[in-house]
Formats: sequence, C-alpha cells, structure tokens
Amino acid sequence: AFDVLVVGGGPAGAAAAIYAARKGIRTGVAAERFGGQVLDTLGIENFISVKETEGPKLAAALEQHVKEYDVDIMNLQRATALVPAAAPGGLIEVKLENGASLRSKTVIISTGARWRSMNVPGEMEYRTKGVAYCPHCDGPLFKGKRVAVIGGGNSGVEAAIDLAGIVAHVTLIEFDSKLRADAVLQTKLRSLPNVTILMSAQTTEVHGDGQKVNGLSYKDRISGELHRVDLEGIFVQIGLLPNSDWLKGTVELSPRGEVIVDDRGQTSVPGVFAAGDVTTVPYKQIIIAMGEGAKASLGAFDHLIRTSVA
Ligand code: FAD
Repeated sequence: AFDVLVVGGGPAGAAAAIYAARKGIRTGVAAERFGGQVLDTLGIENFISVKETEGPKLAAALEQHVKEYDVDIMNLQRATALVPAAAPGGLIEVKLENGASLRSKTVIISTGARWRSMNVPGEMEYRTKGVAYCPHCDGPLFKGKRVAVIGGGNSGVEAAIDLAGIVAHVTLIEFDSKLRADAVLQTKLRSLPNVTILMSAQTTEVHGDGQKVNGLSYKDRISGELHRVDLEGIFVQIGLLPNSDWLKGTVELSPRGEVIVDDRGQTSVPGVFAAGDVTTVPYKQIIIAMGEGAKASLGAFDHLIRTSVA
C-alpha cells in the first residue's frame, strides 16, 4: 500500500507527487495520460520564470522531475471509483478501469478538467490555430486583432471584458436570448466601445485558410439566416467540465461537479485531498494547479503524521 496515492498526472499531480516523495514516504501516481492538459497546449508564456515554453516540453519536464524521485508512476491507468477507508486510519481504495485496485493511506485527486467544445466543423482543426479556451493564457496573442467569445455566462462575459482591453474588437456570441452573466458584468460589457453582442446566435462553423482561423459562421436563431464574421480568434467559454464523474456519491462535489476542498486541500472524505482544475479553487492555470498540488501533498503528509495506524 502507498502512503500517498496521487490520481492524475498533470501539473497538480506532478507537484503533489514530488512533494510527497521528498518526505521519504511511499508515493504512487496513477494517470490516464501523464502530462494532462499541458500536452494539448502549444505556447505557454505565463509559467513564471520560464519566459516561453511548449506544452509537450513542459509535460516531459514534469515527468522527468517526478522520475528523479522514488515514485511509482502508473501511466495509462484510469480510475473508476474511490472507496473510503472502512475505519479512521484505514486504507482508501482506488479502483482502476483494468479491474485492479490500489490502496493507500491518503489519496490526492488531481484529475483535472476539460473545456466543453462547440462541436462544430473547423473547431478541432483550428484548435491552437485561432480557436482558444483560455483568455489568461492566449489573450495577448490576439493583440490588435478581432476575436469572438462564445458563451454569455460569467466566464464568457469576463473573457470578453478582459479581451476588449487587448484586442481590436470582440464579438460576444450567446445561443440564448439573454446573457446569463451577473448584471454588474453585463453593465460593464455594454459600456465597452469595441464589443458587439449577438444573442440567439448559434455558431455553426469555424473557418480558416488551412493555417489559421479567419472567420466563423453563425445562425440567427430567430430569422434562421446564416451570417459570417471575419476574425482571427475564437475563445470558447461554454463550460469547464471537471473530471470528477468517478467520485460521484463518495466525495462532496459542488453543483458544477468540482471537488470541494478546504484551504489545505482536504475533501469531505478523511485522508482524501484534491488539487488543481478538478477542485473548487478558482482560476484554472498551470502555476495555480502546481501550487495547489504542493499544498494538498503537505496536507496529506500532515494528516499521515497525525493519524495513528489502524
Ligand atoms: P490536468 O492538466 O487536466 O491533468 C489531469 C490529469 O488527470 C491527467 O493526467 C489526466 O489524464 C488524468 N486523469 C483524468 N481523469 C482520470 C481518471 N479518471 N483516472 C486517472 N487519471 C485521470 N494554463 C496556463 O497556466 N497557461 C497556459 O498557457 C495554458 N494554456 C492552455 C491551453 C489549452 C489548450 C488548455 C486545454 C489548457 C491550458 N491551460 C493553461 C490550463 C492548464 O493546462 C490547466 O490549468 C492545468 O493543466 C491543470 O492541471 P491539473 O493537474 O489540475 O489537471
């Protein structure tokens, strides 16, 4: 059995594993795909102290760093269920898709999240070539250009306000007949001179020249007419889905499905901690996931030294 079992091998999981291993305790990492979302990222310019890097490069560095320590890395392993310890101080079980199960005194959940996509032609083809999901990450790449934000919830409207300060023009596209964002955000958005708001508009296609995005089509859901908008970037803000389905019914989740953690990363289940994009901690970023992973790991260690052996 492990002292600390980390489930998920993105930035949060890698940081958690290194912090645990440095305490000299038995540490394992089970991950469906070591590297996580970072593997799908092209340029990264906001990982502080590294001016510029690429996702696959950072993912390889994460793995290399973890491998410097005595950590049992189980890649390509998907967790399907968590069974809390039968008694305080007992072992927690993590069941895997392949039928095996792992046991550990503490577990750190760091299974991350995924952006909900529009599922329209061109979206996948132009991902990282104009189709973006993170305004904090990619906003500056569109300085002086025209962009659209898809989605009129809080994250879409926040993104539009943020981007309006950087880019030449923002078109906000909302499927519904009204925006769902907080009133104060809507007021701010409507006060900006370089923002157009389209409602009852359904994005139907992403256009490009083979290299980069050059426009999108949307359907006016009232008239049924199709329109084209010329632009260079599209930020999709229709939801971030936490990878927490396997925890339903065991670990307390927020209405959005995020694992609820306290300020030490402890979840509702004793000995089970969580970090990164899968949790309620706001602002989903690499540097934040790493910090949270380190914190959850120290939380788990603290828990271990305070728990008497069952
Ligand atoms: P993730 O990176 O999502 O890792 C989750 C891990 O858990 C993976 O190993 C996954 O395979 C595994 N996993 C999931 N489910 C299971 C399961 N059931 N069992 C076992 N393992 C499982 N952030 C920045 O700071 N700067 C950027 O420039 C930037 N650009 C981005 C660009 C794109 C295209 C995307 C998608 C994200 C970007 N982000 C960026 C966000 C950043 O990648 C995330 O905030 C960060 O990766 C979160 O780390 P994490 O460890 O919490 O989760």
